[in-house]
Amino acid sequence: MRAAILAVGSELLGSDRVDTNSLALAETLAGFGIDVACKMVVGDEPDVIAAAVERLMSSCGLLLITGGLGPTQDDLTREAIAAVLGRPLERSDEILDELRRRFASFGIDMPSVNEKQADVIRGAEVLGNRRGTAPGMRIDHKGCTLFLFPGVPTELEGLVESFLVPWLAANTSGEGVETRVLKVACIPESVLEQRLGPFYDEWGNDGVSLLPSLGEVSLRLTTSGKRSERQTWLQPRQQEIRKLLGQRVFAESADVTLEEATGRALAAARLSVATAESCTGGLVGERLTRIPGSSRYFRGSVVSYANELKQELLQVSPQLLREYGAVSKEVAVAMAMGACRLLASDVAVAVTGVAGPDGGTAAKPVGTVHLAVTGGSLPEAMHRRLRLPGSRERVRWVSSQWALDMLRRVAFEITGSMAPDGCGRENSV
Ligand code: ATP
Ligand code: MG
Repeated sequence: MRAAILAVGSELLGSDRVDTNSLALAETLAGFGIDVACKMVVGDEPDVIAAAVERLMSSCGLLLITGGLGPTQDDLTREAIAAVLGRPLERSDEILDELRRRFASFGIDMPSVNEKQADVIRGAEVLGNRRGTAPGMRIDHKGCTLFLFPGVPTELEGLVESFLVPWLAANTSGEGVETRVLKVACIPESVLEQRLGPFYDEWGNDGVSLLPSLGEVSLRLTTSGKRSERQTWLQPRQQEIRKLLGQRVFAESADVTLEEATGRALAAARLSVATAESCTGGLVGERLTRIPGSSRYFRGSVVSYANELKQELLQVSPQLLREYGAVSKEVAVAMAMGACRLLASDVAVAVTGVAGPDGGTAAKPVGTVHLAVTGGSLPEAMHRRLRLPGSRERVRWVSSQWALDMLRRVAFEITGSMAPDGCGRENSV
């Protein structure tokens, strides 16, 4: 079966909205082994919508359309498609009653503009939308099946689960490819392989791949077959890996970033956090604040590049700096404690290191980084010393990965769900 996707919405043609609906639809189709032959985005213009539908229907057996089912004047998908198919729109009393009931449940009279949402293309199956006012439609026409979905992504998701997935299950062999992703941070690939030893012994390595990127590895499990066969293959493998790696797994979706996972862990533990940064120059704070809602846990950062500032702002004693140097366990711990005090946070992470390319010594070569997390109900400071290879940018980024992952794991330790392993050891990555 060849499929096409048409996203309708003038806002999708500008520079500030991306058509993500087609990605969600393509993923659903891939689960049934259906490739997308063509994808289009058009504005809310009836003749353009009509031309696109006509063209896509001529070459594809399945056409998925999103957007333009709303009540406003620019929502014209329904009318445009009725015209292309040469079928009239018929107002459904049943949908009208349902819409009125829905508005009444919010304590308002239904505006008359919403009435057109009860218009159904003759012969269409109505796809009830519990998440919004615009019902979807499925129409079989001259060898092509059209699905009309609302544009609001959560409404689309609901209709896809309730109507498209069952339709695909009934109308395809159900064969497809599916991938699950588990992400881990700050474990060298070789150590990860070793930890996965018992998994490989039991399940083999077919369909398993490790994709390393800077300071993290995505573990991918991929299989093909019918939906139920895929679940039978994926579920126990995913469970086993989760069991072997425990809280080392920071996400079970390709879309979740480390800063997002750390934010979730901090929010769940109800911990506020501060950072004291030297070689990362604020990168850890910047990454934490990329996440919407981070004000719930993020207090602030002190970027203390100069030693005077480590002393003045973070109360790191001049004696520690003289005796151990700025790049040391002692100074990292003192910086973290200073940030906790100054910024009144529950926990703080400190990063101090030699990012290079200059500034290295025999004892502390470029890439030497000390990280510390203190505060909360931690019995003692958590410390890591890293020896990171590579460029300045790489050293800074991987350091920020470690800082985020240490915070994430401390949040778990404080909530009592885990004891972080191997803390205090030296690490070469
Ligand atoms: P309704 O959902 O009420 O039927 P509609 O389908 O036209 O109306 P709009 O009002 O145009 O939806 O858009 C609703 C929201 O959904 C907007 O925020 C819009 O940007 C978003 N949206 C619409 N189409 C897409 C798309 N293809 N991908 C991502 N977001 C979309
Ligand atoms: Mg629209």
